[in-house]
Amino acid sequence: MTHIAVLGSMNMDLVAYAEKAPQLGETVTGRAFRTIPGGKGANQAIAAARAGATVSMIGAVGHDVYGSRMRETLEHSGVDTDSLRTIEGPSGTAHIVVDDEGGNAIVVVPGANGTVDHLAPGDEGVIASADTLLLQLEIPLAAVVAGAEAARRHGVRTILTPSPARPLPFELLHNIDLLVPNEREAATLTDRGDPRDAAAALLDRVPQVVVTLGAAGSLYLTRDAAPLVIPAPRVTAVDSTGAGDTFVGALAVALAEEKPIREALSWAAAAAAISVQREGATESMPYRPEIEAQYT
Ligand code: ATP
Repeated sequence: MTHIAVLGSMNMDLVAYAEKAPQLGETVTGRAFRTIPGGKGANQAIAAARAGATVSMIGAVGHDVYGSRMRETLEHSGVDTDSLRTIEGPSGTAHIVVDDEGGNAIVVVPGANGTVDHLAPGDEGVIASADTLLLQLEIPLAAVVAGAEAARRHGVRTILTPSPARPLPFELLHNIDLLVPNEREAATLTDRGDPRDAAAALLDRVPQVVVTLGAAGSLYLTRDAAPLVIPAPRVTAVDSTGAGDTFVGALAVALAEEKPIREALSWAAAAAAISVQREGATESMPYRPEIEAQYT
């Protein structure tokens, strides 16, 4: 079995549904409330575990009910949480108001994620034992840099999702093997609106880039071969939340299994296409047999 390590965030999404979001100083009555475990690190960990890998999650939750629930959610999908620390203080939370038009307003409080600013003893060993390390940008950059350095020292493949998009230092990018922005992130990182131009510009900084294009699929560029355009299966999407994380988790598993790149991208597209046909982020992520059925 392949082994994927994830160094990243866990958030509890606290979602209030109301006719409209309140203005400053205003109170509105909502009609529903849900708590939904998320955070890009946890999402990618669950996606990779369901796609068939052994997965270790490195990160932190708070000493509160959200922390215990997020740990249970990971374990329920088979993710190893031995490297997930519980710190004094609150878990990461995202406070979200969704209005009747589907618009949202969000306050993210990093909580425990903000304490993940270095590798703890033992983390490097976990990274060294993995085939691939998955990274995102929802924890302090210092830890992302340290994780990528540790992976490089041990010959472990690194895949970075540059979300939320921000300027990325050379000290991070020179240890990244594959960068996977969505279209907006690719544009933000390069000031180029066309995804192919943006991906080409990113190749100056990393050897391989996949830009995800929603229902239009994905675009793969590398320095030494022609670009590949991989279509997404045509499906009726009901909720694309978490599609990007499902794609990256499945792609990491396929590459660790040494599937050729075109096949790996199609396999990831199959996984993401299943997730968009169902409500929710992690709840909608497919298990391996479903991906195999969609792929063939
Ligand atoms: P999100 O933020 O919603 O998790 P994202 O913006 O990071 O997603 P997208 O580019 O929207 O990422 O989607 C990632 C992948 O998911 C796409 O490359 C595609 O394979 C798949 N996907 C997304 N939307 C659809 C859709 N409507 N139909 C089929 N596949 C889709």
